[in-house]
Parts: sequence; C-alpha cells; structure tokens
Amino acid sequence: MSAPVYRGRFAPSPTGPLHFGSLVAAVGSYLDARAVGGEWLLRIEDIDAPRNVPGAEASILHTLAALGFVWDGPPLRQSTRRERYREVLERLYRQGDAYPCACSRREIADSRLGPSVDGGLVYPGTCRAGLPPGRTARAWRLRVPDAVVAFTDRVQGEVAQNLERDVGDFVLLRADGQFAYQLAVVVDDADAGITDVVRGADLIDSTPRQIGLQRCLGVPTPRYAHLPVATNAAGEKLSKQTLAPAVDAGGGVPLLAAALRFLGQSVPLAVERMATAEFWAWACAHWSPAAVPRRRASPGPDQCLPP
Ligand code: GLU
Repeated sequence: MSAPVYRGRFAPSPTGPLHFGSLVAAVGSYLDARAVGGEWLLRIEDIDAPRNVPGAEASILHTLAALGFVWDGPPLRQSTRRERYREVLERLYRQGDAYPCACSRREIADSRLGPSVDGGLVYPGTCRAGLPPGRTARAWRLRVPDAVVAFTDRVQGEVAQNLERDVGDFVLLRADGQFAYQLAVVVDDADAGITDVVRGADLIDSTPRQIGLQRCLGVPTPRYAHLPVATNAAGEKLSKQTLAPAVDAGGGVPLLAAALRFLGQSVPLAVERMATAEFWAWACAHWSPAAVPRRRASPGPDQCLPP
C-alpha cells in the first residue's frame, strides 16, 4: 500500500460545543484536505479527562454532520489510547529521552528561570540526572536538546525555538496521572499517518515541542499550517473561558461562508444561496491556502460575541 498523499485531521477537545474559532479550524483543515482529494480524519481529544464536558462530543459531531462535513472512518477517541501512550513513554524512558521528575510547581517557580513560550514555566532540569534522594516521581518529562527546532509553517512562515531555553524539559505524563497533550498528539498523528496538520495558531508555539518528540521517536514530521484564531471584541481568543457562544448547527451555508471569509477567501454572495453539498463542491474548487492571512489572530464576525 502506498503512503497517502494527503491525510489531514480535525482534533477538537470535548470541552464544550463548537464555537466559531473551532469551526474555522474544521473548515480550514477540511478544505485543505478535500481540495487535493485527501482524507480527513476526526479525533476527539478527550485525554484531559477533568476538562471533558458531558455531551460536548455528541454536540460537536452533530454540528459537523449538520454542516455537511464528511469524515473518513470512525472518530478516534484519545481516551481509548492510554495503553499506547504508556508504551511510547516506556520506550522514551528506555532510550534515555524521558525521565521521572519530583518537582512541584512551587519548586519550579522558585528556580526563577521565568515564563516559557506558552506562559508556563521553563523547567530548570532539576531531576534530569535522577530523582533527588528521598523524592518520588510526580511527572515524567522529555529531555530536550539545547538546540533550535525550526520549521516553515505554510501560513505563518518561519518558526524557530530553542527548546531548552524557551520551554525546558516538558511534561509527557502529568502529576495527576493524565498523559500530556504533547505526547498524545504526536503519537496519534504518527500512528494515523497524518501528513498535514491544519489547526489554530494558538498551538504554533507547541509545534517545536511536537517536532522534538517526533525526532526522538523517529517518525515523520507532518506539514503544518496554523490558521489565525478568531478573537472577540475584547481581543481574546474564543474559548470556553471567554464565553464564546456555540455555533448554530442549523447555521448552514451562511455560517460556513463566514468561516471561509475569516480565512481570507472571497465568497460571492450567490454562494450563500447554494445548498450545502453544492457549497462544499464550490469551496473545494476555490480553496486558496495562499489567501489565508498570515496573522496569529483576527477579530471574528459578530456572532463571536457572547450573548
Ligand atoms: N484539541 C486541540 C484543540 O481543540 C487541537 C489540537 C491539534 O489540532 O493539534 O484546541
């Protein structure tokens, strides 16, 4: 069997219903795949169990189906993959790439290394050479190189990060026993043979960590396209925390057209009168990745405002 030319995915977390920002990621990843005859897989990122909201997964799937998205194969739930993540963590440990860490947040904060690229704390490497005597493991971390990891994002251009200086050894298995997003996403994308990751630019700063992990595991690095994220009137990213309203599953083509315009595509008014299937055929034929604004965030349309 030959490798797929393009296999994309959309990976919502079931922390709430789809809002306009997550719809944009769904539309962008879908069109980028379908426009070249590629596959589009759906993955439910429910690995962070405490954040899951009952009913959110069903609501997301219902909204996607009502808006005419068609995915390949059944959706994959990360919660079914814990054994696989454990196996990978053990392998990283055997290779000398992962190690147990006893440090509490307070201890890391006291090291005064300062904030990491994503607002966390740069880990000072205290447990790198082994757990201090009398201490027990709380979390597991990846040993990162003191080297620059760079990639060319299809939308945002060159991105470079020194993993040791900008992030430090990062967590793979958290102190609360949950596998970290960074580990799960890399293992899932690699196991599924994902060739292209199209997602919100809020995740661009974690991409060098994911590439670092891919290198430790000897798996290919997909192409990346990080789309601008939608913000509300206060300039905040739409999310559950900023009370972003759910998109209307019955919003139909006008809603999809709004997501496309947000992605810099020009959508003639006549397109809004199309039936859903006709709209998707039109959108696939006209999808222009080059037109996506090279910005990490942009104000969303009016329906992004909280009620
Ligand atoms: N689950 C993440 C989110 O909903 C997306 C992760 C990804 O696309 O890599 O923001």
